[in-house]
Amino acid sequence: MYYFSYIKRFDSDELGKIVSELYNLSSIQMHKGELVHRAIENYIQNVLCGAKYNLNHAAKVAATKIDYICAEKKTTEQTNGLILSEDFINKIKNEILKCLHTFESVWPIISNYQSILIEKYDSFKYGDVEITVKPDYVVKDEEKVIIFDWKTGSKKDDDFYQSIVYSIYAMDKFNLSEKDISVVLVYLSDCKKYKVTPDHKYIENIEKRIVRENDEMNMLDYIPEVNLMEYCIFCKYYTICELQRYNKNAEKIIV
Ligand code: SF4
Repeated sequence: MYYFSYIKRFDSDELGKIVSELYNLSSIQMHKGELVHRAIENYIQNVLCGAKYNLNHAAKVAATKIDYICAEKKTTEQTNGLILSEDFINKIKNEILKCLHTFESVWPIISNYQSILIEKYDSFKYGDVEITVKPDYVVKDEEKVIIFDWKTGSKKDDDFYQSIVYSIYAMDKFNLSEKDISVVLVYLSDCKKYKVTPDHKYIENIEKRIVRENDEMNMLDYIPEVNLMEYCIFCKYYTICELQRYNKNAEKIIV
C-alpha cells in the first residue's frame, strides 16, 4: 500500500495513472469515519461560537451521502467486486447516528476544557522523518494538554501506538514533558473511553519504530511481491494486485 500510495502513484505510465485513481477510493467504513468526524468538527465549531448544531440532522445528511456513495458504487468494496447489501448499508447509517449520539452524551464534560485545535493537519520532525498528524480535538486544563481522538471502529492495538505518536507531537508543539499530556480515545460505537498517559518507555519504543519503518519504506523502489491476504479485498489497490497475480500466473503458463 505504501509503495502504491507514495511511489507508484506519481509515475506517468499506465499503471501509475490507474494507481492514482485508486488512491482516491475509500472503503465504506472510511466514509463512515469521515462523515462522523466532519459532523463532530462542525458541531464543536458551531457550539464554541454560541450557535446550535443538530446532530440528528447531521446524521440524516450523512445517511443520504452514504446512499449516494453506494448507489454510485464509489466504495473500495464495490470496486473490488463486493456487493453491499441494503441491510449492511442501513447498519452503517445506524452506526453513524449512534456515534453522533455518543459524542453528544460525552460533550458536556469535554466542553469544560479550553479548546486549542480542532481537526487540524500538523507535523513534527523526528530525526529526518517528518510525521503528519491530524488530532481530532486538542484542549487544555490548568495542568495538562489533552488530546481527544474519536474512534468510529472497534479497539485496535495500533490505536494505542497512534496515541503515543500524538503525545510526542504535543510534547514537540507545546514544549511539554510527557507528564503534562494525556490522550483520551473515545470509542463512539460502544461508548467506551480510554485514557492514555504516555510513559517514557512507550515513547522510546515508538521512536524506534518510526525510524525502522521509515527505513524499510524508503528502501521500496519496486513493485513488491504480490501476497494477497484475506483482508486485501478491502484494500483500494486490490484490483492492481489481482492483475499482477494474473500476469505472474500467465508468465508461468507461457514458460
Ligand atoms: S491488495 Fe493487499 S497486498 Fe495489495 S496493496 Fe493492498 S494490502 Fe497490499
